[in-house]
Amino acid sequence: MTRGAAVDEETLQFYRGNAEAYAKRTFTSRQARLMAFLAQLPPAACILELGCGAGGDTVEMLARGFEVRATDGSREMADIASKHLGRTVETLLFHDLDEVETYDAVWANACLLHVPRPELADVLARIWRALKAEGVFYASYKEGEADGRDTLNRYYNYPSPDWLRATYADAGKWNSLSIETGEVIGFDDKMASMLFVVAQKSG
Ligand code: SAM
Repeated sequence: MTRGAAVDEETLQFYRGNAEAYAKRTFTSRQARLMAFLAQLPPAACILELGCGAGGDTVEMLARGFEVRATDGSREMADIASKHLGRTVETLLFHDLDEVETYDAVWANACLLHVPRPELADVLARIWRALKAEGVFYASYKEGEADGRDTLNRYYNYPSPDWLRATYADAGKWNSLSIETGEVIGFDDKMASMLFVVAQKSG
């Protein structure tokens, strides 16, 4: 697979410089979504978590007996998550994911929304490749029509549902792909329309 630069350096710099402040925020709105996602997995399933931030979701997965590889592209954030969880969280950039048919599931909450648009299909293809047959994959995005930056200078790909469907289709074959909508308040204190995507890899 070719290796693109699926990193927006200014965005990553934001998470390096604001890791402590970000980690202090508690987010509860995704809890129901996480529980519904975990409910469809076999017991002790092996989950890859991308962009785990402070590890709030990781705690829930571990508490329910799942085997979790938690990762984040910011070393500072990974260090905070490591302390929080009492176990090592690896520093992993999306475009360095290079495993094949390893995971039953991939959980990527509010992180792939920072992948530059031209690189998203490559990152999704890496995730597709890392999943076992019929593995499931969750990711969430801030909805929009064109990419841009927020007031904190973080890059967002701001996809529409149609654009996402086409980009997932470019990345690999999926048995199913569902997109739900909702609203969340971000770290910038602004309400955002979200797209919650759950896809199952083909068998
Ligand atoms: N998933 C966590 C949550 O829901 O609280 C954190 C979400 S936070 C909005 C986005 C996370 O993605 C940050 O922790 C950031 O360091 C990470 N991130 C941004 N770009 C990345 C990249 N190219 N590779 C890996 N992680 C990245």
